[in-house]
Amino acid sequence: VRIATVGLGLLVVACSGGERAEAPKGSGSGSAEPDRRALAADANDLVPPGLRLPDGVEPTRYELSLDLDPASDKFHGSVAIGLRLAAPRDHVWVHAAELELGGVEVEVAGATRAGMIAPAKGDEMVAIDLGGVAPAGELVLRIQYTGTYHDDDAVGLFRRDVDGVKYVYSQLEAVQARRVMPCLDEPRWKVPWTISVRAPKSNLAVSNAPLASMTPDGDAAVFRFAPTEALPSYLVAIGVGPFAVIELGTVGERAVPFRVIAPAGTKAGALAVVRAATAPIVAWLEAYFARPLPFAKLDYIAVPDFPGAMENAGLIAFDVDLLLLDNTPAARAGYIELAGHELAHQWFGNLVTLAWWDDLWLNESFATWMADRVAAELATGRDHATAQRGEVETAVRADADPEAAALRRTIKTNTDIEDSFDAIAYEKGAAVIAMFEAWIGRDKLQQAMRAYLEAHAGGVSDSTGFLDAIERVSDAGVRAAFATFVDQPGVPLVTLERRCDGPTARIGVTQERLVPVDSATPVTTWRVPVCVRFPTGKPAGKAGRGKGAVAEGCVLLGGTAAEIDLGTPTCPAWIIGNAGDRGYYLAQVPAASTPPMAVLAPRERLGLVGDLEALLAAGRADPAAVTAIVPQLVATGEERDERAVLSLVGATEALVTDERLPAWRRWARKLLAKTVARTRVDGGAPMASGERQLRTERLMFAAFSLGDERVIREARARAERWLAGQRGAIADDDLGLVLGAAARGADRAFADRLLAKAAQLPVGARGRVAALAAVVQTGDPDAVTAALHAVSSADERDGEELAWLIRAAARTSETRPALFDLYADAAALAGVVETLGRRASWVLIGAFDEVCDTAEKATVLAKLAPVVTAIEGGDDELAEIETEIDRCVARRTALGAKLDLELGP
Ligand SMILES: [Zn+2]
Repeated sequence: VRIATVGLGLLVVACSGGERAEAPKGSGSGSAEPDRRALAADANDLVPPGLRLPDGVEPTRYELSLDLDPASDKFHGSVAIGLRLAAPRDHVWVHAAELELGGVEVEVAGATRAGMIAPAKGDEMVAIDLGGVAPAGELVLRIQYTGTYHDDDAVGLFRRDVDGVKYVYSQLEAVQARRVMPCLDEPRWKVPWTISVRAPKSNLAVSNAPLASMTPDGDAAVFRFAPTEALPSYLVAIGVGPFAVIELGTVGERAVPFRVIAPAGTKAGALAVVRAATAPIVAWLEAYFARPLPFAKLDYIAVPDFPGAMENAGLIAFDVDLLLLDNTPAARAGYIELAGHELAHQWFGNLVTLAWWDDLWLNESFATWMADRVAAELATGRDHATAQRGEVETAVRADADPEAAALRRTIKTNTDIEDSFDAIAYEKGAAVIAMFEAWIGRDKLQQAMRAYLEAHAGGVSDSTGFLDAIERVSDAGVRAAFATFVDQPGVPLVTLERRCDGPTARIGVTQERLVPVDSATPVTTWRVPVCVRFPTGKPAGKAGRGKGAVAEGCVLLGGTAAEIDLGTPTCPAWIIGNAGDRGYYLAQVPAASTPPMAVLAPRERLGLVGDLEALLAAGRADPAAVTAIVPQLVATGEERDERAVLSLVGATEALVTDERLPAWRRWARKLLAKTVARTRVDGGAPMASGERQLRTERLMFAAFSLGDERVIREARARAERWLAGQRGAIADDDLGLVLGAAARGADRAFADRLLAKAAQLPVGARGRVAALAAVVQTGDPDAVTAALHAVSSADERDGEELAWLIRAAARTSETRPALFDLYADAAALAGVVETLGRRASWVLIGAFDEVCDTAEKATVLAKLAPVVTAIEGGDDELAEIETEIDRCVARRTALGAKLDLELGP
């Protein structure tokens, strides 16, 4: 009877008698033997299932007990997994990695029997032999195991040492839960977790849910937590240590307690920003979603040396330095954006979870987009236009790569999952959401978001679920348009031109995919909402006295070409190709239609400059446009415009050959004369972060790109005082910048003094790293050799020092030979590779990403041969560098002659 329920196909296989070699050797009850043979012959199973777990085995709950002693290198665990089988089976697959699995028990139909770990192994999966066939329905699997802390990274359970005391933390996203417990480690499985932790008595344990009880147990205590809401494995979180628990009141409409769990000794006063800024963020999000914070508590856990933040339900992890903040507007704005992201995940990701990692954008794009909204509402003093434009440019840089992934991506391996946390999943998705929000209207998008959460709360969804929600609130065609951005990679390049030959003027609009000039363009068309602004030729109303009226026109560009009818015979004097910079596309208009900068909104100006820079990077811009717009942008006197043009002009430097560099410097200096004049070497009074950033960018441009004599002279005077040991001569933050500027074109004697000073300083000290990297700026090959020798042959080597120095030396043709000598010395190279560790390929090979010449490329490739063999994964990095160099050469070929005309003699 049981067999019959499995289906005819199985019986056919059983009759064929094909038993598999890897069928489990049983510890099971003998009575089930005939069934087992039949089931083992079923093709569905003992063949490892590949990346995904098979359907038909569904977890219903977990009871996880961990014995966590931070002083021991291993931890012990026991997990009970409630499973529901869709059909009878004699084994199941679970994820487990780096765990030593011990006893297995199976509780089925009220009886407990022994199971065992089957020999069949999948990719981070094991098969569990159920000790006989279990019927369709519920069973419980109990597994004892031992695991190891990951102390060198933040993966699975890991430890950090604070003042000689060890703490335990967790990071399970994306696919690391399997390093902490055997589980069905896919986000589609959302179930309650009942967690208990045994920890030394002097410690405290925390997890996603509130503490239910604490029981002493010898030298230890057992912390039992309430069952969680339905959670996927990647959101489970745990911490153990002698924590300071800082109560910060309550947040949200349900008055949820809010606490920070921090290393012992952390003072509440250091959390002033977090204390003041968090409740308003939660309140704003609750109002937006029309749903309360979906978890019973809100704890932050402050983790030392943690890469960023992680949205674990009810226990959000932050790097400790992201919470202990000076109470400045910049720090507050940074916190609001970061916390806005992690808190938005409590709804997007935690309440509604992606069904599979191919839709990671549903988590990250939404949180990124929402964080911008939160910051725009709550972070005063933040330059929202610059911040949001910066994200768009990050997205465009990634999306201009012909190999870029789509938002909904293909996942083939676990590595693909970990690699998908990138600029596409975060910034591109945020930019696409913002575009459609502008197209359908804020209220409509908000309705769609609320409907999406309502439909899937407590469960999972996917891109289709979100597009369904969009379709319900918007006009026909919006869903299909949105889908073209979800399913296709790349960013549209929209070219606009005036057509004034008919009874009414029109703007012609065409689209193609932006790709580098040397790559074959794959044919892609999107349904892009394109909006333009243009002058009507009529006088403006009262508000715009003296200026002409400006109108806006939009089209949903479906195929490769469309027209916007302006409804007036007047030919527009200019076109703003991306009105409000709301669209996720690059707009290109002919030079003769470029608007005067004064008519552009701040965000539109940044968009125009950013698009031009992206087109330069692709080898497809008109360099004449740079000469035309830069002086106008400098004239606005806005910090953000100045930073944008510094970046734009800087991007043209790589397009000129060494011989034409003097001409480029004359041209750039003329365009940016005001910037050079404003450059200050003296850090002076404390500055707001935007101002500080601008000062750094000016100084780098004046000293390193232009070789400005006044700036270098001033930097040298400061460096002299620093070399003479004068305290405070250069602020710590400025050491690299000022010493580097001072060393530009300096003689060997100055280089020797830098070397002598470096020798007096402890290995890895900031001043020492800065002094050694500054030696490279003198351009003296012998001095660079001496610096490399000092760092690479020292008894104590420091990875940070090596990385700085090597990357600096790789940048110019005069200093590269010193580096090549190091690469040719097998013993020295081996030591350097070991010290650099995981950074080795990025430092030793990746450092050559600025080479832009075919002959130089041949030399570099030849000299890199021994390095590539010495480093694991070296060939991949080399292939990337080759692509970078080829693209730069192609860009130079495409644009060099036109730029040359701009530079003049
Ligand atoms: Zn996130």
